[in-house]
Amino acid sequence: MKKELKVSAIKDGTVIDHIPSNAAFKVAEILDLEKINKIISVATNLRSKTGKKGIIKVGGKILTKDEFDKIAVIAPEATVNIIHDYEVKEKIKVSLPDTLNKIVKCSNPSCITNNENVNTRFYVIKKDPLKVRCHYCERSMEKEEIQMI
Ligand SMILES: [Zn+2]
Repeated sequence: MKKELKVSAIKDGTVIDHIPSNAAFKVAEILDLEKINKIISVATNLRSKTGKKGIIKVGGKILTKDEFDKIAVIAPEATVNIIHDYEVKEKIKVSLPDTLNKIVKCSNPSCITNNENVNTRFYVIKKDPLKVRCHYCERSMEKEEIQMI
């Protein structure tokens, strides 16, 4: 019999599901996974009803609000499952807040946030496709131009 590669279940932690396949590594990048010493698995190109998806499992991790907001920017369809004792205790659909504080960089080189010690602040003016506007210089950015801090 062929042995299957089994992805271990996690006892406590977070499973981020329904990530677009091409965004799975971007989501992994913002999670600071290097600091975690429990099971981490990143899977992409898994079959799903709507095409392909990625899933990230992180043992022992509880997402911060900033991480939730960042995931909403990169993967607006994602669902976050909170795992406790091998069971899903809570399922949360990420959602974009109206304001993004310290989440994305301003693309305008002369913006005060790129020149002084000022935290970025963007207003979400359209959610799908994503469009945001800088509070300070009023530069608008669309999804393709958005860079995380
Ligand atoms: Zn700006």
